[in-house]
Amino acid sequence: MQTEFGRDARSDHRSSSALTTTAVQKAGTRIIDLRSDTVTRPTAAMRAIIASAPVGDDLYREDPTVLELEAYCATLFGKDAAIFMPTGTMSNQIALRCHIEPGGEAILDASYHIHFFESAQSACLAGVALNCCPTVDGVLTVDDVEKAWLRKPRGSGYAVPRLLCIENTVNAAGGRIFPLTTIRELRCFADQRKVTIHMDGARLWNACVATSITPAEYCRDVDTVSVCMAKGLGAPAGSVLAGSADVIQTARRYRKWYGGSMHQSGILAAAALFGLRNHRTRLADDHANARTLAAGLARLTEPAIAISTVETNMVMLDVAPFGMSAAVFAERARAENLLVMPWLSTVVRMVTHLDVDRADVEEALRRLERVITAASQAT
Ligand SMILES: *Cc1c(COP(=O)(O)O)cnc(C)c1O
Repeated sequence: MQTEFGRDARSDHRSSSALTTTAVQKAGTRIIDLRSDTVTRPTAAMRAIIASAPVGDDLYREDPTVLELEAYCATLFGKDAAIFMPTGTMSNQIALRCHIEPGGEAILDASYHIHFFESAQSACLAGVALNCCPTVDGVLTVDDVEKAWLRKPRGSGYAVPRLLCIENTVNAAGGRIFPLTTIRELRCFADQRKVTIHMDGARLWNACVATSITPAEYCRDVDTVSVCMAKGLGAPAGSVLAGSADVIQTARRYRKWYGGSMHQSGILAAAALFGLRNHRTRLADDHANARTLAAGLARLTEPAIAISTVETNMVMLDVAPFGMSAAVFAERARAENLLVMPWLSTVVRMVTHLDVDRADVEEALRRLERVITAASQAT
């Protein structure tokens, strides 16, 4: 469901993409990049909005576009306040720092971004001990948290759990939607145990479009939420952290400490606002494209990949049956001008986004078929 504006902008963007180094044409075939939804480039319409954005120095809270984005997001999430950040990683890290004094503990799934990609930062910058627990498909339940709580000695000499972290959608679980009912159960637990909840909602937009649950409903039972603007929404950079007035005031102080305080950042906030207003409902296209990709792969592969696990814009493919590692699979796909991401040693991740349409997905399937057929002939 693409807006006319979005579609025009996109074809315009396409025709100019031949000039960019990321879209080098090899042997007459365009590179199709399914590594991540972060690879999207700003459309012509987004660039026009960026060019005309009113700006000021955000250090003095004088950038009207940043103020507009922060107010827009606070309302959208039903929170007192929001703060614009350069990256999702910084939003998560500052959330940890705000919720937990160094030496405290956060309970989460090991596959979440905060652990999988940010364990060093969490230890060094926030001074937080991450207590990781195994979960089913990345959905952290009260039972998982209770077990993680009891797995270690508790008392004044030891780490005290202060925070529960959840992720929505769950990246490592192939873009799985975190169930709202589970969030409500976690809230009751958190209130009893006097801990807080942070939701890493880098792809919350996808969960909202797939379920018709509003961002505010998803955020009602969490203390803070972080979101990314540079993924499905197509902005060049930026993230927002939202929460209570107190927490966001503290976050403002840490953003300065961490070197994330910017000046005429309205340039970036304008792109984020444009993405929020024009590229949210079209995420349904990405979800349909991911299902098409999964269905096509299911026809090509034995055993078939489970299409039911494709809830949003990602497809995880187990390449072990083809007798190769994820790295080798990705290399062979690259030779076909198709970029995929080796996620685990034998799992490849493919993500649909603003810069790939239905025809690209069909072409990607033809290229995947060549990689898979060559592999099965070799074995
Ligand atoms: C992308 C992502 C982030 C943060 O990413 P940045 O590249 O730092 O903006 C955080 N959490 C999840 C789940 C993500 O997918």
